[in-house]
Amino acid sequence: MTATRTTCPYCGVGCGVVATPDGQGGAAIAGDPEHPANFGRLCSKGSALGETLGLETRLLHPMMRDAGGALRRASWDAALDRVAEGFATAIRRHGPDSVAFYLSGQLLTEDYYVANKLMKGFIGSGNVDTNSRLCMASSVAGHKRAFGSDTVPGCYDDLDEADLLVLVGSNAAWCHPVLWQRMQKSRERGARMVVIDPRGTATGEGADTHLAIRHGTDAVLFAGLLVHLADARAAALPFIADHTSGFALALAAARALAPNLAEVAAKTGLAAADLRAFFSEWASTERVVTLYSQGVNQAVAGTDKVNAIINCHLATGRIGRPGMGPFSLTGQPNAMGGREVGGLANQLAAHMGFSPSEVDRVGRFWGAPMMATREGRKAVDLFDAIERGAIKALWVMGTNPTVSLPRADAARAAMAKLDLLVVSENVLSTDSSAAAHVLLPAAAWGEKDGTVTNSERRISRQRPFLPMPGEVRPDWQALAGVAARLGWGEAFAFDGPAAIFREHAALSAFENAGARDFDIGGLATLSDAAYEAFEPTQWPVRRPAHPPLEGEGRREAAGWGEGRAGRDPAVSSSMPGVTPPRRSLAVDPPPQGEGGAAPSVAEPRGTARLFADGRFFTPDRRARFVAIAAAQPPRVTPEHPLVLNTGRVRDQWHTMMRTGLSPRLGGHRPEPTLEVHPDDADRFGLSDGGLCRVSSVHGAATLRVAVSMAQTPGTVFAPIHWNDETAADARVGALVHAVVDPFSGQPDAKATACAVAPV
Ligand code: SF4
Repeated sequence: MTATRTTCPYCGVGCGVVATPDGQGGAAIAGDPEHPANFGRLCSKGSALGETLGLETRLLHPMMRDAGGALRRASWDAALDRVAEGFATAIRRHGPDSVAFYLSGQLLTEDYYVANKLMKGFIGSGNVDTNSRLCMASSVAGHKRAFGSDTVPGCYDDLDEADLLVLVGSNAAWCHPVLWQRMQKSRERGARMVVIDPRGTATGEGADTHLAIRHGTDAVLFAGLLVHLADARAAALPFIADHTSGFALALAAARALAPNLAEVAAKTGLAAADLRAFFSEWASTERVVTLYSQGVNQAVAGTDKVNAIINCHLATGRIGRPGMGPFSLTGQPNAMGGREVGGLANQLAAHMGFSPSEVDRVGRFWGAPMMATREGRKAVDLFDAIERGAIKALWVMGTNPTVSLPRADAARAAMAKLDLLVVSENVLSTDSSAAAHVLLPAAAWGEKDGTVTNSERRISRQRPFLPMPGEVRPDWQALAGVAARLGWGEAFAFDGPAAIFREHAALSAFENAGARDFDIGGLATLSDAAYEAFEPTQWPVRRPAHPPLEGEGRREAAGWGEGRAGRDPAVSSSMPGVTPPRRSLAVDPPPQGEGGAAPSVAEPRGTARLFADGRFFTPDRRARFVAIAAAQPPRVTPEHPLVLNTGRVRDQWHTMMRTGLSPRLGGHRPEPTLEVHPDDADRFGLSDGGLCRVSSVHGAATLRVAVSMAQTPGTVFAPIHWNDETAADARVGALVHAVVDPFSGQPDAKATACAVAPV
């Protein structure tokens, strides 16, 4: 059978995958040796994708709930009629803000684009949010505060070229394994690695130094580093003077928060000698990449933590140049693509916001009859509004909010109040589909056709290699069907994902394009054949009329991975004998009025860094230092004396709807556990291997006790994956409080007060 080059559906590393169907509904899976994210490597989850392709759990036909409450098979026409009628009724009676979409970082960019266009341009509400709000919204807010744009400055090649790799709140060895392996290659040539995490993890064990920081004090640590850089005369004063603003205020705020080493040591719980060594090493190493993930983002002060890190890179001018920069590790495969099309409630489209000029620009591009003029509700606020009855109709796509949201029991109860709940899903039964009025069968990985963008801004194709089973359809088709029923068929008459991508790319370059970070206007004229053959490409990809901004240097990706077998248990090397990559990238003529020259893309793109010229996307083109405020420490009470930290295990993904199908992956952590320090186990009468009841004011779960020195006394750790479909009474989301970062709206999933007791 023919091999197909596609992209892994799990994490934001965005590894290339070669899938060879076996003719019986399955496929052999290998890493794509030509993909610049992984050069042939796959982690345990990616390697096991072939075990997850069966149809046993699939939703294959639309379903509608009848008057008696039973779900019954329905035709697509009947199901879409009901969706359109339900949305139209809510809009007519209660206005456009009474309806909402809740999407997923696992949707393809094309699906995301159509959903966003329908809600924000035609229904007239900003109520499009996504589970990416739970994942990286604080990074988005931090980027925009500092750079004026949601831009990841660097690229994976920087990991090859750095001399110091600092990972903050990231268990990359388990959650981004292929990048972790790449960083280990850098260590073999002499790069050092420091891990900052309250918890002992595989990542900390594999580093040169693990700084077991007190929970939630990362911003204090980096404020202390900023003070150290200034006092040690390690700040790049010419860069600060020429390319930034706000340094003095940010430094004053840092001094208030972290006046001296002793104070930083007292607040972070780290030894002064360890802090001194870290500050000194960071200050004296030019090529530093500081990577961060959920331990930074999922916090009540997540955005401040992001900016505390970025402040240090701006203070040293270590940004946009080889081997240096702040680097947000994205959790999901297409969180970045969702950001690009406006899949967050506080974005409009193509990285534009809700200023009057941007609303006008996007509205004219879409020919939109009813533009949203203000931000919509972010995830937690959205479900609170459902609870209050302010949202009447909700369409959930590709996510399982009654497991993954904080206060998950409250989210479940809220969804049961809706006049209309539509769920687009791959699988027949999920926690979230239990209350659905309409279930729509969505195309799954292996059937989907579109694009995703990974953590380094690289757009890759997800190509189908299996036929869509039953009556399954792509999400964009379902959305277009509803749009047509609401009277907007012409604006949604796409004949395939390539047409959607072209429109998305054209919007990114529509007026004022040269002044925006996200610009893929050079891809707006791809033919269908060129879209099919599209090679992984980093944005920006500007049209010749808008040539690369100064400093957007590009070069071919380094040959990391060639002939290097994986040695991490989570990472395997590629299977041999895959189809050679397709290199040619034919293009259509450019549209009228855009300069007449061919797009600037004819070969796979190399590596793009932004900001090397010191010009940012703020109005004055200067980066902004941000004054960081003191964050409140996690609050515990006599009734709930421990801090619950949540996260991931190596071989499961989200709510296990796909990884749960693989027996091999299930063998790594077969059941949900609560990791507890021995002192706390003694204190609360827990025994290793016994069962315990963990509870907060919001909910409770029953988990297996794993006594571990990796935990800091006073904190416990539980994985987020298990749910009512995979383990009874183990939905950890039910315990998590709904406290959010004030700038990003991202929930704090790392510090819920809880109690434990033996069962
Ligand atoms: Fe998939 Fe693993 Fe690569 Fe992430 S690191 S994209 S899960 S293969």
